[in-house]
Amino acid sequence: MKYDYDVIIIGSGPAGFSCAMQSTKFNKKALIIEASDKSIGGSWIHKGTVPSKALRAAAKLIQSFHSQFGDERGRKPYERFRMEDIMEYKKPILESKNKKVKDDIIKNEVETVRGWGLIKDSNTVEVVDHLHQKKTFTTKNILISTGSSPSQPKIFDIDHTKVLDYSSILELTHIPRRLAIIGGGIITIEFATIFSALGTRVTILNEQSEILPFLDEEIKTELLKAIKKKNIQIFNNTEIQKISSNDLRTCEEVLFKTTETDRLQVVETDHILYVGGKTPNTKSLGLEDLGVKTDPNGYITVDQYYRTSVPSIYAAGDVIGDPSLASASFLQGRLASCDMFGSSSEIMADDNLPYGIYSIPEISGIGLTEQQAIELQIDVTVGRAYYDNLTRADLNHETDGILKLVFRTDNLKLIGVHILGEHAADIIHLGQSVMAHNGTIKYFIERVLNYPTYSEAYKIAAFNGLNRVHKAGVKYQKVLEKSN
Ligand SMILES: Cc1cc2nc3c(=O)[nH]c(=O)nc-3n(C[C@H](O)[C@H](O)[C@H](O)COP(=O)(O)OP(=O)(O)OC[C@H]3O[C@@H](n4cnc5c(N)ncnc54)[C@H](O)[C@@H]3O)c2cc1C
Repeated sequence: MKYDYDVIIIGSGPAGFSCAMQSTKFNKKALIIEASDKSIGGSWIHKGTVPSKALRAAAKLIQSFHSQFGDERGRKPYERFRMEDIMEYKKPILESKNKKVKDDIIKNEVETVRGWGLIKDSNTVEVVDHLHQKKTFTTKNILISTGSSPSQPKIFDIDHTKVLDYSSILELTHIPRRLAIIGGGIITIEFATIFSALGTRVTILNEQSEILPFLDEEIKTELLKAIKKKNIQIFNNTEIQKISSNDLRTCEEVLFKTTETDRLQVVETDHILYVGGKTPNTKSLGLEDLGVKTDPNGYITVDQYYRTSVPSIYAAGDVIGDPSLASASFLQGRLASCDMFGSSSEIMADDNLPYGIYSIPEISGIGLTEQQAIELQIDVTVGRAYYDNLTRADLNHETDGILKLVFRTDNLKLIGVHILGEHAADIIHLGQSVMAHNGTIKYFIERVLNYPTYSEAYKIAAFNGLNRVHKAGVKYQKVLEKSN
């Protein structure tokens, strides 16, 4: 049977974009359907990754400038700098990313159509454009890469003026003096530290018992110290009772209880940011009629090749659930295309995904934490390097941080790396490479690493770890002396 396209991709985010690019490399005819009439590239460029990182970069610049040179009139950054200027900083970054995506699409001869994609059957997609005009296309394969949207709170509404979600906060026209964030995950910690760098007084109301429960304990302790230094207040185990406006005090009030006390507490704030998770964009796609299976939370169920329960229909990116990252979505979209047109055997299952948290300071990790290794009864030793021992960190005034290696005591094989400190999300990849090749911590000791760099932390931590294994070095000499 002859189809209009080899693949139709619904959604132009990282998963859809990379599937399109890979498909053209296989010489296949691809069509991207994008619902937004303003932009192409998905929430990655327009609502999530890139705009939040641009805001972070501007906030860091302001923080560095402010802490280095202060202000002769004692003003806070939010009194001195304007959101308009920060938006101006962000604008060319987003425009250039958007242009790059458009250019790549044109250069690779991927066709695009604007409108809402609806799957009619396993080889037919209908597009309804903004003038309600319908067009139908046939295709050999379909990729659903429609992403996700912010989940809605149960007991209050998001008005996008005072009460914001993680998309509308990026449209704020001023830097708030006070911000209450309801949440306890990655996005919460990123926005909390970004706004704190702008001088905003931030309060986190976390409904769970702790923030970022997946972090290595020691990294978490360092993060909590950094958060305390910034005067960010965290309440865990909270139950939000009500949100209301106090016109007399011209503020918003969040009333909450914690499980520790039954006492009603209140936070006065200018804005509230609700970060209550994500919901997959699977509505009005026609999935129910087709029999595409989803999990209880609505995420599309896929196998290791990103095939759904319906032959010829694939899904990738946020719409299939965790890890819900642009980084992973890029890979998933490409692998789906490899399965459609290439060889599935080329697909390598890699469970060791790194994560990057773009808080200030940055956090990144891969592999087992020390606690997970102990729970698995693996005999591990750790090696640590503190950023204040790194010349590069000294030069950049970025000396808060730690890099921790987790490795097997018997053969020194590296099984986890956990970093808090600037450039963490970049330098994690050195550890990732060593782990991917089943390397040991000797790699960092035996190789010459550029100096001064943040990567030097690997060498220091490897020496530190090796000393522990051999009970060598000043610390162990003292221990041995005492025990003799
Ligand atoms: C604040 C924030 C910060 C983040 N920071 C990071 C980070 O630092 N690193 C990282 O790796 N990830 C980050 N992420 C996550 C990242 O943005 C997402 O994981 C990624 O964008 C998901 O890609 P996707 O291709 O699945 O979908 P998306 O990028 O969400 O794109 C989906 C596209 O599909 C379109 N669409 C939806 N339904 C239809 C339909 N029926 N027809 C046609 N088009 C449709 C939408 O308009 C959209 O353009 C962040 C997210 C947020 C919210």
